[in-house]
Amino acid sequence: MTDVKRLYLMQVAFSPERNTPFVCYLVQLNDGRNVLIDSGLPDMVQPPPGVVMPQLSQNVVEQLGSIGIQPEDIQYVIATHFDGDHAGRLDSFKQAEFLVQRSHYENAQTNPRFERTKNQWGNPDLHFRFLDGDTELFPGLRVVQTDGHAKGHQSVMVTLPNTGVVILAIDAVPNQEAYTLERQLRPVDDNLEEMIASTKKLMDLEEREKAALVVFGHDGDQWATLKKLPAFYD
Ligand SMILES: [Zn+2]
Repeated sequence: MTDVKRLYLMQVAFSPERNTPFVCYLVQLNDGRNVLIDSGLPDMVQPPPGVVMPQLSQNVVEQLGSIGIQPEDIQYVIATHFDGDHAGRLDSFKQAEFLVQRSHYENAQTNPRFERTKNQWGNPDLHFRFLDGDTELFPGLRVVQTDGHAKGHQSVMVTLPNTGVVILAIDAVPNQEAYTLERQLRPVDDNLEEMIASTKKLMDLEEREKAALVVFGHDGDQWATLKKLPAFYD
């Protein structure tokens, strides 16, 4: 049983130096409602020191527009976490309901890491619904809390009518190499033990749900093999 019709993958930027895509997702429901997952980079990004600016592709609003979807057609935005490459355009979707883990939102209030995007997620015009852990949003669309990269980070599980279960790991597992319990803490991560526990959680989920696909958050090799908007998974 699934209310989900389609899953679109959008690449909004790419860093050739690191073979790293920056991405968002769109889930379309059978009743025509649209759920955006993350919003990509803002127009002007001041990269942290030492970080090479990725090459920007069409931004999320432009990509949605290319398949006839306007920002006001987005009813929900799942904010996986508030890093600059995921939360850069949240305020383009002011009429949507934002779904975020309560623990992430609370952590972001005082964590300097999320100061850069506070002009987005801290915008008083945005309407948030706070989630406490794993939550089924609709039949076939679940968020899965995966701390470690960030407090209250969330991954997403989508059950499609033909493809089956797709797990969007987001930054809980940035690439295939990191899909192991021998994780290393990178400067961009928050907590190693939680990251390992979240990796295990996603591995267990993949097995239990017999997932057809696990999409890693920033894996250039994998992204080259995936269908991207205007193509979609159904
Ligand atoms: Zn990221």
